[in-house]
Amino acid sequence: MQDLFSKFDPLIQQREDLLATGLTDPFGLVMEKVLSPTVALCNGRETILLGTYNYMGMTFDPDVIAAGKRALDEFGAGTTGSRVLNGTYAGHREVEDALKDFYGMDHAMVFSTGYQANLGIISTMAGKGDYIVLDIDSHASIWDGCKMGDAEVVPFRHNDIEAMEKRLKRIPEGAGKLVVLEGVYSMMGDIAPLREMIAVAKANGAMVLVDEAHSMGFIGPNGRGVAEDQGVLDQVDFVIGTFSKSVGTVGGFCVSNHPKFEVLRLVCRPYVFTASLPPSVVATAATSIRKLMHGADKRAHLWENSRTLHKGLKDLGFQLGTDAPQSAIISVIMPDLERGAGMWEALLKEGLYVNLARPPATPAGMTLLRCSLCAEHSADQVQTIIERFARAGKVAGII
Ligand code: PMP
Repeated sequence: MQDLFSKFDPLIQQREDLLATGLTDPFGLVMEKVLSPTVALCNGRETILLGTYNYMGMTFDPDVIAAGKRALDEFGAGTTGSRVLNGTYAGHREVEDALKDFYGMDHAMVFSTGYQANLGIISTMAGKGDYIVLDIDSHASIWDGCKMGDAEVVPFRHNDIEAMEKRLKRIPEGAGKLVVLEGVYSMMGDIAPLREMIAVAKANGAMVLVDEAHSMGFIGPNGRGVAEDQGVLDQVDFVIGTFSKSVGTVGGFCVSNHPKFEVLRLVCRPYVFTASLPPSVVATAATSIRKLMHGADKRAHLWENSRTLHKGLKDLGFQLGTDAPQSAIISVIMPDLERGAGMWEALLKEGLYVNLARPPATPAGMTLLRCSLCAEHSADQVQTIIERFARAGKVAGII
């Protein structure tokens, strides 16, 4: 028998070598109790959370929690079925209405996760004979959607408008074209030049999908994302998003103005062949999305946090993913995995949780400590975070 696990031997070895140095497993952290959107008990210690995607701090919003409890009492724990059979409850329609209102768009379709939303929309829209032109740093769910749909996949260098144009121009006449972009790229925390890229895509006859997972609720005057901020939301054919970040629960969605959009409910396999979200989840999501429409003060505070942390870390001498803060994600570049894991642990001992990110999730083989800020982080907490980075950076020999 050929042991099918043998392909993972190098990874198993790398992990064993890392743990043999006495380090805590950076991918095995347990939050024993979550006290608020920004604090949890980890290893018995109160720890500031700087590695969640809870950008707008909605997980503990009293209205959101009350809506979830009410739905649990009135509709039960789960739907036990697909959206197209027994799995559409009033709450699923309500959250789709909330999304249509939030984005000002005609159609909204809710999936069980953001991963499935990308998988479903990309694989259904771009099939055999079509072309997908996408940024090389796209999220795994985008790549997997491409694979599943069997279209020709043409990647271009990250955020490179000319490279994208060149690839579009090489596509045979008459072929279907989908350009796939993200608003915020979650590893480095940088944004895409969507205005220019969408203009090029449209000039070359392509439809455009933008994944706004990390910008929803925060970026843009109404929190609709980078496309809104750059004034091009009306030119985007499909916006993909998730409930697992600013919305504060779980689920995924696509919104669109295309008049034929509703047919996707019949042909999109990751929508049809899976159970729908539990009633409590869609109720929390709908309440959260409606509150995010009035989140201007929170958005302003989150930008303030992002600017303060970026400057604080830069002044300490850390190498950051972007020259200026572009989103709620600030990435700190580590020299290698070993020292990155050491720094991660030193921060955890200080009472600060960040994300350790490594290939294949990261671009160019980088090891990153990703900090994602929350609108509920107080100014004092941000100062504490900077102090903890200063101490841990010295202990780990990074600064
Ligand atoms: N798109 C992007 C850009 C993401 O970063 C993520 C999750 N990290 C997803 C999609 C998937 O979202 P979900 O967690 O809802 O599956």
